[in-house]
Amino acid sequence: MTKIVCTIGPSSDSVEMLKKMEKTGMNIARLNFSHGTHQEHETVFNRIRENCPNIAIAIDIAGPKIRIGKFKESVSLEIGEKVTITNDESIISTKNYFSVNYKDLYKEVKIGSPIFINDGLVKLEVLEIDGNLIKCVVRDGGIISTRKGVNVPDSNLTLHVPTKKDIIDIEKACELEADYLFISFVRDVEDIKKIKEIIKSSTSQYIPIIAKIEHIDAVKNIKSIMENCDGLMVARGDLGIEIGPEKVPVLQKQYIQMGMQLGKPVIVATQMLESMTIEPIPTRAEASDVAHAVFDGADAVMLSAETATGIHPVNVIRVMDQIIREAEKSELIFIPKCKAKNIEESIGKAAVDIAQNLSAKAIIALTRTGYSSQMVSKYRLRLPIFASTPEKRTLRRVQLYWGVKPIFHTYETDYDQLVYTCISSLINEGHLKDDDIVVLVGGSYLGIPRKTNTIQVFNTNEVLAGKH
Ligand code: ATP
Ligand code: MG
Ligand code: MG
Repeated sequence: MTKIVCTIGPSSDSVEMLKKMEKTGMNIARLNFSHGTHQEHETVFNRIRENCPNIAIAIDIAGPKIRIGKFKESVSLEIGEKVTITNDESIISTKNYFSVNYKDLYKEVKIGSPIFINDGLVKLEVLEIDGNLIKCVVRDGGIISTRKGVNVPDSNLTLHVPTKKDIIDIEKACELEADYLFISFVRDVEDIKKIKEIIKSSTSQYIPIIAKIEHIDAVKNIKSIMENCDGLMVARGDLGIEIGPEKVPVLQKQYIQMGMQLGKPVIVATQMLESMTIEPIPTRAEASDVAHAVFDGADAVMLSAETATGIHPVNVIRVMDQIIREAEKSELIFIPKCKAKNIEESIGKAAVDIAQNLSAKAIIALTRTGYSSQMVSKYRLRLPIFASTPEKRTLRRVQLYWGVKPIFHTYETDYDQLVYTCISSLINEGHLKDDDIVVLVGGSYLGIPRKTNTIQVFNTNEVLAGKH
């Protein structure tokens, strides 16, 4: 039921690997535009579309994140070592002398400021500012490599989304027809509005926006951000540095619950199985973290370096899938109490209620945009929800929703015929058996998106007996 987002990188971008990853449990492929060129991403994007047409592709937009420069290979910084940071991006960075992509960083930091690299793994302390050079000592050691992120929580950096690069990247994502845009470092609704305008001027398609919550302002503005975007990512790496790691678990729970209320997906991300980037098995703490995201009711859990650069992406997905399945067997998944405030929400709520009363085997949502499947998914009923749609885009988009499985049907104007075709194909494919109860939600007036106004209940026997 809980979905898996995989970041695609050098370890996972071959046809063979992508196919194996899909088979093992990947639902959404994430291309992080912080790394690599448009050309590289376009090649991989087309490869995924061609070979895994049902996988949703999310493009991650970098936002104003400071990053270190280009290294020949990864280097290990030891506690007590001295390093110098320059704003000259033309150099090839080395262990003790590396660049950042933010020209004015030396003006923003103070002596004694901490500087974090790679989701807080490495910590430096500023000793001296010498012209445009920042001289530091390593306080927490670790491995750094090309374009790892830099955080300076002590400074007053006022950079806003979208940066110039973000605009170009969003235009590219629209051209490629990405299924989702993940937007980094959103701070308020204005940021979301600007992004929406860029999308609107680039394409006539609707592209859903997932706001990555990783800035303290976003935490403050969470309600309005949530209402104005299509879902959230709890981007725990940067968030943990911004507000302290101890505050992240509570926010994770709160945001997932907010998402359930609105029927909007929430992704839990960063360091979920981090040690498996280089190890064949997870730490027990990591296994527990994935399981707890499932217990919280997250729509999806995400893999970052584990699949982008890790030693064995398929193995990581297999482990994640096993942890998810085991957690979902328990009765520990958080069940939200949602008030139904409009027709669609009420239909969703009633359908779930009926399915429970009758021990139904599945819920079917006949849907154009995926919205009616969201209205059912939000109740976290452990029952497959089949989103039946003629829209290829919707087919991929619902991959992110908890418990929703996409099924394709051709355009059909006769509603009864549509229902019949849909249920009989689920029987033929082995998803339903004889004498199963299924609950179906849909719009009896076809063609109007979001018109979810009908609940029907069938016994599979009756459907087959009354064959058209
Ligand atoms: P974000 O804050 O957006 O998560 P990140 O730097 O943490 O940025 P991830 O997408 O989490 O990036 O990926 C983890 C690591 O995997 C990156 O730091 C990078 O080293 C590597 N990586 C990801 N995508 C690529 C890519 N397309 N090419 C090369 N390396 C990549
Ligand atoms: Mg981030
Ligand atoms: Mg990351």
